[in-house]
Amino acid sequence: MFMTDVRMKGFKERIDVETALKLFFEKADLKKLESEEVSLWEAYERVLAEDIIAEVDIPHFNRSAVDGYAVRSMDTFGASKTNPILLRVVGEVEIGDKPSVKVGKGEAVRVATGAPLPEGCDAVVMIEYTSKLDDTTVEIYKAATPGGNVSRIGEDVKAGELILKKGTILQPQDVGMLAALGKTRIKVVRKPRVAVLSTGNELIEPGNKPDVGQIVDVNRFTIASAVKEIGGEVVDLGISRDDTGELESKLKEGLASADMVIVSGGTSVGARDLLPEVVNRMGEVIVHGVSMKPGMPTALAVVNGKPVILLPGFPVAALIAFYTFVPRILQRMMGIEVVRQKWNVVKAKVTRRIPSNAGVRTFTRVVVKEVDGEYVAEPLRTSGSGVLSSMIKANGLIVIPEDKEGVEEGEEFEVILIRPILRC
Ligand code: AMP
Ligand code: MG
Repeated sequence: MFMTDVRMKGFKERIDVETALKLFFEKADLKKLESEEVSLWEAYERVLAEDIIAEVDIPHFNRSAVDGYAVRSMDTFGASKTNPILLRVVGEVEIGDKPSVKVGKGEAVRVATGAPLPEGCDAVVMIEYTSKLDDTTVEIYKAATPGGNVSRIGEDVKAGELILKKGTILQPQDVGMLAALGKTRIKVVRKPRVAVLSTGNELIEPGNKPDVGQIVDVNRFTIASAVKEIGGEVVDLGISRDDTGELESKLKEGLASADMVIVSGGTSVGARDLLPEVVNRMGEVIVHGVSMKPGMPTALAVVNGKPVILLPGFPVAALIAFYTFVPRILQRMMGIEVVRQKWNVVKAKVTRRIPSNAGVRTFTRVVVKEVDGEYVAEPLRTSGSGVLSSMIKANGLIVIPEDKEGVEEGEEFEVILIRPILRC
């Protein structure tokens, strides 16, 4: 566990991100989400809740891999440009046809790519190595090898083979494979329902003109969008005042209708930061105070086996803390084994030193550009965790791990791309 020398007032101790998650998973005893059946049309990006084992061979008939002539390979032995072999054309098989002809000694059948092979043949000669002399005669310029240009039964997929594992997030090619296997309905993990609440006496709904001191609620919209991005369904809990009773009833509402509740604001240690206390009465706050910047006042709690995640109020901090914890917790609940890194990572030269404290995971917003064929990352100067525009201007995040103190000017470092790179 990393302890930091910079102690924030009120937080007795802070623990690093990985320890926080480990502790949370140990203590929370999270419920796994049940599965449901969906059609292939709804399968994309869903999480498989069953192993998929092939019940059929693909292909299920021997088929031609090329356009050409189905032959007995032994009949083409020794064929070359200077010594072509003549075969008698006895028919044709189009794609989709069931062949009615057979290939006998000295015979060939014209076949299309993907067409089933007629009985008697063991190879296909590509059209490029043939020349048709008349309707019934073809010249062959190249010897066929046994099995050449033939896609054999089960060559792609064998019946009984494990094709997709439980926990796979289904990609387009996976859905296509399911179709090929003849699966029409598949078991996937139910989408997690995530309730989202904003808290603070100063908050108002967007669209209203804020009075002095009032702030338009940003976090509910950022967090709801991020929940959708990682495959969840949003339950909107609105805004709660900094009031113990109201907070408690909103949390209860969220817990009754969702698998997880995410609250932003009111998680620090000020007079109006009532949430940790309220949540601790309903369940258990397992982590409060994480060695990360921004995002320090994050808390991870559990109520009746459901996670309650308390994010800082400052919008940048709220989103960074969300990405740090929520996908990993939801993935655990969905039975996804491998932590998924959604974004691309590039290496870029940092244009200015980025300071960080040992023991603190530090997130810096940067602008990555391609200059003279290499990537450079310029840290943004306006770095306050309440500066909304910084997350619009930035296209990258540099995550400085706990065991590193700062990134030097000119140092090449990994950048997570949150938007495409600008070309100059
Ligand atoms: P808090 O964590 O409640 O002390 O809030 C920290 C800062 O974030 C304050 O300036 C709040 O006004 C601001 N803040 C809290 N919640 C939101 C929100 N939902 N949208 C925008 N700003 C917020
Ligand atoms: Mg507040």
